[in-house]
Amino acid sequence: MENNYYNILLPVPTEGVYTYYSSGEIQVGERVLVPFGNRTLTGIVLEKTCKQDFECKEILMCYNEEPLFSPIYLNFLKQMASYYACPLGLVLHGVISDKLLNTETFETGNIEIHEKKDITLNKAQKDIIESINIHKYSCHLIKGITGSGKTEIYQETAKKVISEGKQVLYIVPEISLTLQLIKRMSYRLGVSPSVFHYKLSDKLRKKHFIDFATGKSLFMLGARSSLFIPAKNIGLIIVDEEHESSYKQDESPAYNLRDMAVLYGSILNIPVILGSATPSIESLYNAKTNKYILHELKDRPNSATLPEINIIDIKKNDMVGSLIAEPIYERLLQVVENNKQAILLLNRLGYSTYLYCQQCGQVATCLNCSVGLVSSKSKQKIFCRYCDTEYHKLTCPVCGSNIFKEYGAGTEKVEEFLDEMFPNKVIRVDTESTSSLKTLDKNLKRFENKEANILVGTQLIAKGLHFPEVTFVGILGIDNLMALPDFRAMEKAYQLLVQVSGRAGREHLSGQVYIQTSNPETQIFSMINDTNTEFYDWEIKRRKITSYPPFTKLARLIFSYINQEECYETAKIVHNNIKNLFNNNNIKIYSLKDAFLAKLQNKYRYEILIKSSSNQEINKALIYAQQIFNKYKKGSMRLKIDKDPYFMM
Ligand code: ADP
Ligand code: ZN
Ligand code: ZN
Repeated sequence: MENNYYNILLPVPTEGVYTYYSSGEIQVGERVLVPFGNRTLTGIVLEKTCKQDFECKEILMCYNEEPLFSPIYLNFLKQMASYYACPLGLVLHGVISDKLLNTETFETGNIEIHEKKDITLNKAQKDIIESINIHKYSCHLIKGITGSGKTEIYQETAKKVISEGKQVLYIVPEISLTLQLIKRMSYRLGVSPSVFHYKLSDKLRKKHFIDFATGKSLFMLGARSSLFIPAKNIGLIIVDEEHESSYKQDESPAYNLRDMAVLYGSILNIPVILGSATPSIESLYNAKTNKYILHELKDRPNSATLPEINIIDIKKNDMVGSLIAEPIYERLLQVVENNKQAILLLNRLGYSTYLYCQQCGQVATCLNCSVGLVSSKSKQKIFCRYCDTEYHKLTCPVCGSNIFKEYGAGTEKVEEFLDEMFPNKVIRVDTESTSSLKTLDKNLKRFENKEANILVGTQLIAKGLHFPEVTFVGILGIDNLMALPDFRAMEKAYQLLVQVSGRAGREHLSGQVYIQTSNPETQIFSMINDTNTEFYDWEIKRRKITSYPPFTKLARLIFSYINQEECYETAKIVHNNIKNLFNNNNIKIYSLKDAFLAKLQNKYRYEILIKSSSNQEINKALIYAQQIFNKYKKGSMRLKIDKDPYFMM
């Protein structure tokens, strides 16, 4: 009997398509087990092919299932690979873990049904819902101030789609995937959603993966990675907080979830809803150029009003405990006295922000990374935020002294100070005190139950929280964020300010926001409460003048290796080659330089920035750079291609 030949896509960091044979017939999209080197891997049948000239290996096992991966899904992965100039095998490897890929299909229990609870939507909400045609592709951007009822719109639209028997994928940033949200969804939709994120156990992840892939579950509430579950019959994709930086994957393929959701929606010909109080500049620009449909919600239901914003010049005010401007401190006293609640934002972790040598002023840096060390008092350690190395004794590399002083204030120091002033009234939430989502949930729950009056934290606390009793928000550190060498610095600072301000006065109580700063004249401060697009018009103009996205495309090439000289040599060869071939009017190859973090976890890093107004041109350069790199790389040297980079450092 003749054998059949198949091209199989494997999750390996190369192109990843290999030919195998089988005596039986296998369908496209089915999963198979194949030998690969000295391992066995699960792969996906891409297509049937003919007998090859070279010798092929035999498929070991076929999963004997209805194909999980549809041709549309595979087409989506191919387009993603092409957009990010990333090999297809590496794309698969980066979006579905090996563990999930080889999950056996199994019967899972029934989905719980709850009693539904409804509220009456207002006209603005109804109009938006009516304008969304659920039977074809279009991308809707909902720009609605915090608490304006966006989530209710998602729920209502989701209900319509589910009632037609189709599946809904609702994506939120990992950190917003709280019990609060999951419960709210079950109440409104009447079913427990499938949930999918990194903190779930393997068993539960597999269960939710299979339930959604096989179409058993109609509603998925998931983090970034849930977009890549090969859902059977998906009819709507919702991306909440579409501006979120955590939607950008750090590892290759360095994709942006929002952009991939829009791509997938257009391939599937289904609607995509993006929502945010502070949309990204890119999305707003897409709306202005009619690629997306813009909807605005400018008011809060229950007639909750926007908070009043006050700017406090730290040069003109006394600083209590050298940390908090007096007017902010006074407001905290009032809040505690009236038993209301306050949120304090600081975007620095730890106790001190850096340590310096008392004798010569040298800043203490990590031996493996070119970054300053921070100290944590509660954990009694000095450590590096990038590689977690702990230092028990510091010696100054310049003068040999062992005495280091702390400078600057992190969340921990602020908490310690406030704890003295307001015993038992303070809770701190940041990535350090929040090793798991459970602890985060617990701490937020404690705050919600009013076990404390003051919540201190980093950016984490700015996200999607709803505490009716919060009447005051104090912002202690925003200046450093605006000073970063990143063309998005203003956008990020603005988003953070609006988001955290939106935590104040969400229901019947009105709110106040105080910002302490050494640059009170900063323009974006006056735009925080603007419900139009003043900030966006201002920022888009700035981007246009400076030729930054969305007016150009950027890509970063980052080379890393333990040997500094060899890393530089290879990067230089790649740089010379692309420069010779590509530097023209359509594309700009910047000079080869040290990456912002020139050394990270003992690896030296060099970077090349590429800018172009043509997507095609930039991709040609990226593919060529990869080829040259593959030819000249040494040992474990790495090249990371970061297209549409979100972090410029
Ligand atoms: P967003 O997602 O924009 O932050 P939500 O949808 O969470 O806003 O709404 C904020 C609060 O207002 C929620 O408690 C929600 O239940 C309530 N809400 C939303 N729309 C209405 C409405 N039309 N009538 C009454 N309450 C509403
Ligand atoms: Zn010294
Ligand atoms: Zn380090």
